[in-house]
Amino acid sequence: MIPITRPLMGEPEAEAARRVILSGWTTQGPEVAAFENEFANLVGAPHACAVSNCTTALHLALLVAGVGLGDEVITVSHSYIATANSVRYCGATPVFVDIEPHSYNIDPRLVEAAITPRTRAILCVHQIGLPCDLAALVPLARAHGLPLVEDAACAVGSEVLWNGQWEPIGRPHGDVACFSLHPRKVISTGDGGVLTTRHADWDQRYRLLRQHAMSVPASVRHGAAQVIFEQYPEVGFNYRMTDIQAAVAREQLKRLPGIVSERRALGAQYPALLADIRGLSLPSEPAWARTNWQSYCVQLPAHCDQRQVMQQMLDAGVGTRRGIMCSHREPAYAGMTRPHPLPRSEAAQDRCILLPLFPGMTPQQQGQVAEALAQACATTNAFA
Ligand SMILES: *Cc1c(COP(=O)(O)O)cnc(C)c1O
Repeated sequence: MIPITRPLMGEPEAEAARRVILSGWTTQGPEVAAFENEFANLVGAPHACAVSNCTTALHLALLVAGVGLGDEVITVSHSYIATANSVRYCGATPVFVDIEPHSYNIDPRLVEAAITPRTRAILCVHQIGLPCDLAALVPLARAHGLPLVEDAACAVGSEVLWNGQWEPIGRPHGDVACFSLHPRKVISTGDGGVLTTRHADWDQRYRLLRQHAMSVPASVRHGAAQVIFEQYPEVGFNYRMTDIQAAVAREQLKRLPGIVSERRALGAQYPALLADIRGLSLPSEPAWARTNWQSYCVQLPAHCDQRQVMQQMLDAGVGTRRGIMCSHREPAYAGMTRPHPLPRSEAAQDRCILLPLFPGMTPQQQGQVAEALAQACATTNAFA
């Protein structure tokens, strides 16, 4: 069986977790602080704050950007549902705009028309690791005085060409970027998230809110020679990353360059292997973006039924996933008004599938994937 993905973890991660467990300090502490420094260096960000996952990162990012009850946030429906849910956690409404046909990312040309007096932020997504058009979105957000929040859940290790230089996603180019360390992403620590921001005061707010808005953190009180009574000036959250997770994450960061280059090598192999499948659309990178190939997304030929293709591939021992979901089609979003049509988002969900791509995948396995897809496309027919 060839899985859709497989996290690359081993002895160094197991040893890191063991070291923290035996140290006597397991929740947010020195390992989290060290991980934050290393992550900030990696993406070139002035501040990085670790949290429990990317969904909580997005929640904090929007709250601190000023999103509240009755506000609107412009974003895509075509994303994992956590993107839209994070807007709703703030009591705000996600205003969905459609995607570009080839990148499957937010279409910046549709954003301006979606701005209303209630718009409080723009939430863009670097979907499946491919950077969205920041060169268009950053000036647009600035011109309207709107914070730009980047959902970079899948995009650690991805890069954009910025003023003639390749820069990592997460510097950030907008105001704040949110990353995920879930096993489905490029590096993992079971569950985990990181916010990077250019604003020192926002970073301070994340640090306060992630641990119950406690005025003096437990790690500080623990080491103090004097008795300290903490205060709770506002309602915070428990969005902490543990030191066990952070220690594992630090080992994963060491592997990141190797993982990304291996993923890129695999991504570069697929076009030749899939070239003979008539009507199949392959993903492509614009000249200004380098993806980490968190997922390899192909659009099936028009005559192919998505579910049949996926089933036939599964029967042949190849795991796939359907195209990225559309949040507006889920029951949780059924009652919401939708001012902008989303035909490309819906078509991408219905016609795309994600192919296996993971470190350690062999040329033979990649050949098997291509073979199974070719077979399935040849024998399934949506009009049959
Ligand atoms: C995975 C994902 C999330 C959620 O990340 P978690 O760490 O699982 O909370 C949010 N947005 C996008 C685009 C994702 O792919």
